Amino acid sequence: MRVFNFSAGPSVPPLEVLKEAQKDLLNYNNSGMSVMELSHRSKWYDEINDECISLIRELLNVPEDYHIILVQGGASTQFEAVPLNLLKTGKADYIVTGNFSKKAHEEAKKYGDIKLVASSADKNHTYIPMPSRDEFRADADYLHITENNTIFGTKYPSLPDTDLPIVSDMSSCIMSEVIDVSKYGLIYAGAQKNLSPAGVTLVIVRKDLLSNEMTVCPTMLKYSVHAKSNSIFNTPPVWSIYMMMLNLRYLKKIGGVPAIEKINRKKAQMLYDYIDSTPFYQNNVERSCRSIMNVPFVTGSKELDDKFVNKATEAGLVNIKGHKVVGGMRASIYNAMPIEGIEALIEFMKKFEEENK
Ligand SMILES: *Cc1c(COP(=O)(O)O)cnc(C)c1O
Repeated sequence: MRVFNFSAGPSVPPLEVLKEAQKDLLNYNNSGMSVMELSHRSKWYDEINDECISLIRELLNVPEDYHIILVQGGASTQFEAVPLNLLKTGKADYIVTGNFSKKAHEEAKKYGDIKLVASSADKNHTYIPMPSRDEFRADADYLHITENNTIFGTKYPSLPDTDLPIVSDMSSCIMSEVIDVSKYGLIYAGAQKNLSPAGVTLVIVRKDLLSNEMTVCPTMLKYSVHAKSNSIFNTPPVWSIYMMMLNLRYLKKIGGVPAIEKINRKKAQMLYDYIDSTPFYQNNVERSCRSIMNVPFVTGSKELDDKFVNKATEAGLVNIKGHKVVGGMRASIYNAMPIEGIEALIEFMKKFEEENK
């Protein structure tokens, strides 16, 4: 039996995509081989790589003056790759809105003069600070933000007001809603939330930002190297990229990012509406900053929260325990979580409230 998997990552892929992969598992496209054993220098892999990258360009409407690069090392490697590639004056500005942005800020400090422009740590990251234009340094090379905060369940309601190139960690919200790529200098996302199994990281970067990499930048972290080799500089994670291709084909088939955004908004609305309708559960995030991907909630009693997690798991609603720095519960409702999963969760929450209030 398949469960409803509310994991924050790695997360559930669409069932149809899993079935498609199952079909190809032993013999991909009459190659007589599994995708897992395909050479990355074969025509089969060339086709997979090209289709994957062109689907990303199409679905996110990526302008021609941006490279699309597939790399390894997860979003965490990008915390260092970004300053190593983009620091020209040696200055960059950061906003800290949770654990991952804090890590990105810490790593960047090794490489330059890094200004913490704003932080939401004062209220346990339950909101998104909005600095005014003059708080950013006009001569900084970029501003780094984490667009959707996976652990705390917040999301930027709008982009910061600045002319600096914005570098955004979109690991937990990539392709969940329509974005205007031209408003960013660089976007990166570990794939394992909305795009594919772990192993590949998407980087979208404006071409003019690429000629300043620091001399100490490792070759494997240079965007220019991966861009020049069409993301086949060394052995790529063929399986993960193939899975991403299937995922993106599926997304295109159901109507692309505008269609999934509509579904995502509906799912999040259903869950927040229910939480707001009863004092038994609380979501402590400022309303305008609520994430549509990660929905944390608590009962206010640690004992009841633990009981909730255990009973939910028994009922086939798994991985709903909140991150240890927030506690309580967190429902991660990425693109592939079906509406039925939200309905089942709300039903369970009602029943749990009845039995425990
Ligand atoms: C999951 C996540 C990360 C960490 O990604 P890894 O691929 O595990 O390094 C970083 N940033 C955000 C916003 C995330 O959700």
